[in-house]
Amino acid sequence: MNAIQLDPQGGLDALVELLLADGFRVVGPVVTGGVIAYDDLSSGDDLPTGWAVEQAPGRWRMHETGDQTRFGYTPGAASWKQYVFPAHQEVLRIRRTDGSFAVTRPPAPERPFAFIGVRDCEVTALEVLDRVQLDPDYPDPRYAERRRDAFIVAVTCAVPSATCWCTSMDGGPVPQHGFDLLLTELNDSDGHRLLAESGTDRGAELLARLPGSLATPLDRSAAVAVGAADTDILAPKLSGKELPTLLAGTELHPHWEEVADRCLACSNCTMVCPTCFCSTFTDHPELEPDVASRTQEWASCFQLDHSNLGGRPVRASVSARYRQWLTHKLATWTEQFGTSGCVGCGRCTTWCPAGIDIVQETLALIGPAADRDNTDRDITDRDITDRASDHRDSGHRASDHRASDHRDSGGPGTA
Ligand code: SF4
Ligand code: SF4
Repeated sequence: MNAIQLDPQGGLDALVELLLADGFRVVGPVVTGGVIAYDDLSSGDDLPTGWAVEQAPGRWRMHETGDQTRFGYTPGAASWKQYVFPAHQEVLRIRRTDGSFAVTRPPAPERPFAFIGVRDCEVTALEVLDRVQLDPDYPDPRYAERRRDAFIVAVTCAVPSATCWCTSMDGGPVPQHGFDLLLTELNDSDGHRLLAESGTDRGAELLARLPGSLATPLDRSAAVAVGAADTDILAPKLSGKELPTLLAGTELHPHWEEVADRCLACSNCTMVCPTCFCSTFTDHPELEPDVASRTQEWASCFQLDHSNLGGRPVRASVSARYRQWLTHKLATWTEQFGTSGCVGCGRCTTWCPAGIDIVQETLALIGPAADRDNTDRDITDRDITDRASDHRDSGHRASDHRASDHRDSGGPGTA
């Protein structure tokens, strides 16, 4: 990997200018409306300076630090998903002409994206989405057009948030792959600077055009120290790889009902999640005669009609919908797509208005590692069967209780 020392002001300006000159649509974090969001950049000055973020379940706050750091915050609700898989997009337009139909599709974006400030969890989230949306058997052509040639400028997370848990999911805080350039912010006795390293040939080609001086061995060891310090703060909270096995057999665990008592089924967690990909299509007859369009919008497994089969929702209760979401993200996604559906970014926890914490809910389902005698040995089919049977016994009691509550109130039973 080539590396240079980059000035945090002029160097970032040059980075944005070169990417624009090379024909990219450059997008990065900006401060707008009291949050950090992603938007088009015209210069390095558009990137935030001197901001920190505090996150907790149901809470996200930013405050000025008064220093010159450029990436001293963790991301907000926005994710890069909104660019490669927009929340709302027209997918086709139909016009009746001469007794037939002409179908047109929106043109592909004119310029490839360059994303600046991509955290490790976000690099991984794009790769998770790629596996779903670029599946050779069922590729999404619109996603493919938007993702093509995207230039990734990743950033080492210098200050993780309390809701971050990427290290449990084999990630962060230092991106290891999936980027063209990697920036690490250094702020020590040698001054404030950015270490820029290339991850691909085109990243190396851009690096060679950026102003800066060759990185010294001290710069490189300072960058390693930034990552090591974060790894200490971010001790793994869950054993990500074992979750599919640990969650197997929890279908009737009473904790699903306990979460459902708090969950508003608002869908926030799925909307902010950088890997959730459910969508729905709507046809729109237009006022102009003989014209109709079709749009695609993000959807959520928390919506009641999302599981409609034969005119009725299969997952009518909130507990069933929360269970579907959590077990898909952390367990069955692996079987389906070969990776976990979760990168441990913590957005679902931070932006849940009820403060429901995916890590804590999962621990309640599988038990803390210290209480499990199966963390250091292979889990057998017998273990799973025993656990399923334990949960089923207690789960029936909980379900019976809620069903009778619903009967008393005249509401629906649990699914
Ligand atoms: S878990 Fe939280 S964010 Fe998700 S649907 Fe329930 S209340 Fe909304
Ligand atoms: S499930 Fe939550 S922690 Fe995992 S990737 Fe989605 S938003 Fe991030």
